[in-house]
Amino acid sequence: ESQLNPNYSFENFLEGDSNRLARSAGLAVAAKPGGTSFNPLLIFGGVGLGKTHLAHAIGVDIKDKYPEKTVLYISAEKFTQQYIDSVKKNNRNDFIHFYQIIDVLIIDDVQFLSGKSGTQDVFFHIFNHLHQNGKQVILTSDKAPVDMQDIEQRLLSRFKWGLSAELQNPDFETRVSILKNKLYRDGVEMPEDIVEYVAKNIKTNVRELEGAIISLIAQSSFNKKEITIELAKQIVEKFVKNTKREVSIDYIQKIVSDYFQMDVDTLQSKTRKRHIVQARQLAMFFAKKFTKASLASIGSQIGKRDHATVLHACKTVDNLSSTDKQFRKYVEDITKKLSV
Ligand code: ADP
Ligand code: MG
Repeated sequence: ESQLNPNYSFENFLEGDSNRLARSAGLAVAAKPGGTSFNPLLIFGGVGLGKTHLAHAIGVDIKDKYPEKTVLYISAEKFTQQYIDSVKKNNRNDFIHFYQIIDVLIIDDVQFLSGKSGTQDVFFHIFNHLHQNGKQVILTSDKAPVDMQDIEQRLLSRFKWGLSAELQNPDFETRVSILKNKLYRDGVEMPEDIVEYVAKNIKTNVRELEGAIISLIAQSSFNKKEITIELAKQIVEKFVKNTKREVSIDYIQKIVSDYFQMDVDTLQSKTRKRHIVQARQLAMFFAKKFTKASLASIGSQIGKRDHATVLHACKTVDNLSSTDKQFRKYVEDITKKLSV
């Protein structure tokens, strides 16, 4: 049992600027599993952007081209559970052996292994064995390896051996083609302007985009109403309201520097003056808390610092807010300003 979902195919994975690199790397791996430098292939990106779909697509395509190869898809969570069970039942070696004879191993959401050192250890050995024998490993994660936390260094360095390819938010054109493809497959007709209206207004991720169109179809068929732009507006409004608006890093820097009555340039400057350093650290902390940006990207946007500086800032803010009353007040005040 490969656990692959045939609907998650390459054919159904629409191409756009946001996924071109990851998609073509996936195709290359599927053409020559274990035979490219993309080993492991690590696909990373935010929720609902197609990581699971693309990971399946690679597996489905390999199974199609090389029926004799054993391909296995498993979530990191299930992998962890299986490992724990094997330890309980005293058959850890069988567990390892099972994974070492697979030709193509696909592990979804490896960020789940964070802090789980036993599972990381066993995965490290399985990974080395597969890699040494020219077998293909495909991983997905919500973050790039540099931003992963509580994963052992030796495993992180393996993750970086091959290619890390990001899935980004699709642009308008790609969102339209994803919706049209979905409607076509479901045999539903919808006026062009309504499709475009939905694609224009739901920008969060592909899962939400599909969710909105599914609600729209369901609403119209339950209530025997025609799919109109008014109905589309109602549904889109609900979706936009329910997904919390993401504040931008620029906005956070503006709010924090206003609060301390300094300007953004000062907040970003290289100075070591304590109150400025603290303002900068707070901006980094809130960027981590309120946006999906990676530590590296937060650092580069807040005064060109590296990811380690951002990580340090987040820890400092955590510490200070539990030991320093005045500081805690800053955090609470700014949180309120950012939450309106
Ligand atoms: P993730 O694993 O990154 O959270 P999924 O792979 O579950 O995201 O994708 C969410 C939904 O969006 C799925 O139904 C998937 O088929 C769809 N999807 C994502 N990207 C694309 C794409 N490029 N083309 C078509 N459908 C897509
Ligand atoms: Mg997924």
